Amino acid sequence: MIICKTKTALQLLLKNKNQQPIGFVPTMGALHKGHIALIEESKKQTSITVCSIFINPTQFNDKKDFEKYPVTIESDILQLEQAHCDILFLPSVEEIYPNGLSSLTQYNLGFLEEILEGKYRANHFQGVCNVVERLLRIVQPHILFLGQKDYQQCRVIAQLIHLMQWQHTLKLVILPTIREASGLAMSSRNSRLTADEKQKATTIYKALQFIQNNFTKQSFSSLQKEASTMLLNNGFHEIDYISICNAENLQPTQTYSSSVKHIALIAAFIGSVRLIDNLLLD
Ligand code: AMP
Repeated sequence: MIICKTKTALQLLLKNKNQQPIGFVPTMGALHKGHIALIEESKKQTSITVCSIFINPTQFNDKKDFEKYPVTIESDILQLEQAHCDILFLPSVEEIYPNGLSSLTQYNLGFLEEILEGKYRANHFQGVCNVVERLLRIVQPHILFLGQKDYQQCRVIAQLIHLMQWQHTLKLVILPTIREASGLAMSSRNSRLTADEKQKATTIYKALQFIQNNFTKQSFSSLQKEASTMLLNNGFHEIDYISICNAENLQPTQTYSSSVKHIALIAAFIGSVRLIDNLLLD
């Protein structure tokens, strides 16, 4: 694997690859099997796989969350080598934001920015779009690989691709969430949980499964209430949302409809860690 720290080095390297299909996996590091599954799929579908590791300061609404974000670069490089990733792009903040962190682009994300993560994390998705647009302009991939774990982020990036009019040159592939045997969705933030919290954190998936098993039978408000009780009785002390939405457009739904695909999404705090997860219900 070749490690590039500057866009000039990366672009020079890619220029010599003669237009071979490039797959791109953007990450913030602290890699786990969820990230590696994206790399493996990119290896299958493209000729050159580029992974980026960049902890993007502009997408953190909580300064403490940014400061505490895990950094495990040696283990990350080892995992990427083992997965036969071709190129790791490891830029500095200055490389991505040469004009500083205050001159950012504003994107029209409409309703997507007002709900769920957008509602609870002010400007988070503006920061995501700023970094993803910059990375995509540098890497110029043919396929972008993202995880369903960040479902709303996938929708936001699809909107970014649409806004940039890149839909004819860039394919978006969304891969299923990789979980621990316990059901807990793998996440870089899980490393900040104690063993006890990690065990209790599995309740988030149990609550999603409970909603899935009952969403055609029970009112959505009673499902949300029961899921909330499950979380609060098992170590979660604050819930941002338990939401059942139309999976196509993320509009909240109040009742079951056989003509709509539904998704349940949860964001909740255990200890000082905010976890998110989701499950397609149909
Ligand atoms: P992050 O490093 O958390 O920004 O994530 C980088 C990419 O990995 C995003 O597309 C995430 O959705 C994806 N990802 C994170 N966790 C998982 C997981 N457990 N399963 C599948 N993809 C994941």
